[in-house]
Amino acid sequence: MTEERIIADRWDGQAVAGLAGLDLLVYQSRLVGSDPRLVVWGGGNTSLKLHETDFRGRDTYVMRVKGSGSDLKAVTQRDFPGVRMDDVLALFEQGSMSDEQMVEYLAHTLIEPNSSRPSIETLLHGFVPARSVVHSHADAILAVTNNQRCTEILAELYGDELAIIPYHRPGFYLSKLVGASALSRPTIKGVILLNHGLITWADDPHEAYQRHIEMVDRAARYAAQFITPGTPTPNPSRREGSSQHVSVSVETANPTQNSKLKTQNSTLAPTLRGILSQGGQVERVVMRFDDSEDVLAFVNGETISLERLPAVLREGAATPDHILNTKRHPLWIDAADPTDPVALIAAARQAYDKWAKEYVAYYQQHQTGEPMLPAVPRVVLIRGLGMFSVGRDSKAVMIANDIYHHTIAIIAAAERTGGYRSLSDKDAFAAEYWPLELYKLTLAPPEKELARRVALLTGAAGAIGAGIAHRFAAAGAHVVCADLDIDKAVTLADELNKANPNNRAIAVEMNVSDEASVQAAYQRMLLEYGGLDVLVSNAGIAQSCPIDELTLADWQRSFAVNATGHFLVAREALRVMKAQGTGGSLVFIATKNVTAPGKDFGAYSAAKAAEAQLARVLALEGGPFGIRSNMVNPDAIFSGSGLWSAEVRTERARSYGIAPDQLEDFYRQRNLLRVEVTAEDVAEAALFYASDRTAKTTGSMMPVDGGLREAFPR
Ligand code: ZN
Repeated sequence: MTEERIIADRWDGQAVAGLAGLDLLVYQSRLVGSDPRLVVWGGGNTSLKLHETDFRGRDTYVMRVKGSGSDLKAVTQRDFPGVRMDDVLALFEQGSMSDEQMVEYLAHTLIEPNSSRPSIETLLHGFVPARSVVHSHADAILAVTNNQRCTEILAELYGDELAIIPYHRPGFYLSKLVGASALSRPTIKGVILLNHGLITWADDPHEAYQRHIEMVDRAARYAAQFITPGTPTPNPSRREGSSQHVSVSVETANPTQNSKLKTQNSTLAPTLRGILSQGGQVERVVMRFDDSEDVLAFVNGETISLERLPAVLREGAATPDHILNTKRHPLWIDAADPTDPVALIAAARQAYDKWAKEYVAYYQQHQTGEPMLPAVPRVVLIRGLGMFSVGRDSKAVMIANDIYHHTIAIIAAAERTGGYRSLSDKDAFAAEYWPLELYKLTLAPPEKELARRVALLTGAAGAIGAGIAHRFAAAGAHVVCADLDIDKAVTLADELNKANPNNRAIAVEMNVSDEASVQAAYQRMLLEYGGLDVLVSNAGIAQSCPIDELTLADWQRSFAVNATGHFLVAREALRVMKAQGTGGSLVFIATKNVTAPGKDFGAYSAAKAAEAQLARVLALEGGPFGIRSNMVNPDAIFSGSGLWSAEVRTERARSYGIAPDQLEDFYRQRNLLRVEVTAEDVAEAALFYASDRTAKTTGSMMPVDGGLREAFPR
């Protein structure tokens, strides 16, 4: 076995100087949580038993244990509810207890009645007599427990130091088994839970931590000795911190090859998204493409052979914890020639049909009356191309993605050391349909209006664009902010991500009048979110000039952006939406000039009329596919608008015979409601058209102009 330590002891004696009790527990927990080789996405938990003074001033023996749903690497004191130990220990003699009874009982044992709910694994900590307990689902431990040679390897690595407990779902029974092991064998340092993880303990938090990483390290070093030189080694620790922000996938050594892969995947993405949403029969998903080194090695058969891979994938997830985020099996698409788009799409359909049939059969075999969860894989592996992670939103996508990197590492290590083996179908089902998790789903707030949808906004950085972007993001959409000015688009996307974290918005550079630029932006969007549901074609330019003075270049410039730009952007949208087969909404930000053209605004009004006619033709052509096309006609929006340059203001004021600083008032006074029209007003109309509230409206236009008689649609 390799001598060098793989999982290092990162305990910092100086940092903990003076820390005790709950503070020390927070330190220890963060240390464990911040190492992705130990803990991934909300997994793992820790506890410490200590004396505290209760609300009546009595000395009370309390266990501080991680609250349900908190993330170990970022925990604070508040994330550790306290439970009274005499109440907890009273349960040890009890014969059995359902999860619901356990949760209800624990609620009565809280020291602070309003604290967060203690972890579902609370009793597992409570029944261990040692003061400090650390529990994780570390990759290296899973690689040796999910292993055909597991008994042999565990005996060799841990001998009498750890007890081995066969797989049982987390809950009362498992907690009793752990407690009984600890009591009957006082010299053990912890237990291994097969197909689940590791628990270590000691009276001192530092020692419990040291024991934990030392046991994980042993397993990691054991697996490492089987690595043959030249084999790519999956290493999720490289991705440390990726749970906080999106890590850009690692570029492969061959840029041409890489861009080819991206093209193929962006071509496949909308069709795949449509297949997974079953043509709108189930809820839509978003998907993110990943061609990191470890993923490519895995889908290319370099990590384990392509002959063996399907059998390994059928084994299922590495722990019950992972099943909730990755489902039991990934979808494996194995096209004879992955570079042929037709063959690839056919293979994807076939693979999904098979996957879904198997899922339904598995559900029918094990169900006990609970409704079936959507038959949608959360991880899609494509031979030769890469991986799509799938979920209801970008956060779910990132969690599935992160976990699957760990799964790859676990599978690779298990295959090297004996052969990967996972939970039985029955246990997997019990984990996926765990009543407590199903109950949690029923507590989730209702989805927002644009949840699960991807919206592309052109001219996003301008006043109207930004107004729509904020409104759509607040309504739950994934927002692609496209703009010629990429810096401004990035600033906007950052703002949206601050308010709606986890990659809910991206910025893309787009020149709407340039075919290649539009296509590149679409490709980026398809790799990031997998498809498109709403296009808001908004980018535009304005110039005021009488026709007899207008240059051809200015006329053409207006048409390039205000007419051709809408065509190029909408053409790609139509292609993507047709490939998805789930309908879609095209929203054109036009102008009141469409119905009431403005003097000295010839180049603008004529090009915008072309946009309007394009929008109507799109309604005709999109209709059979459930793709709607509608127009919003705003009147002048002043605040923050790039359209109103000093020059345009001067020119418009001149054509109305007023001073430039009277313009706002002039526009307000000319409408029936005497109001100033804002970007927020336009955003509201765009949202209306984007949403299902207008599911039966297409080919229409809506003025947002305060009421202009001459611009009434007719
Ligand atoms: Zn666990």
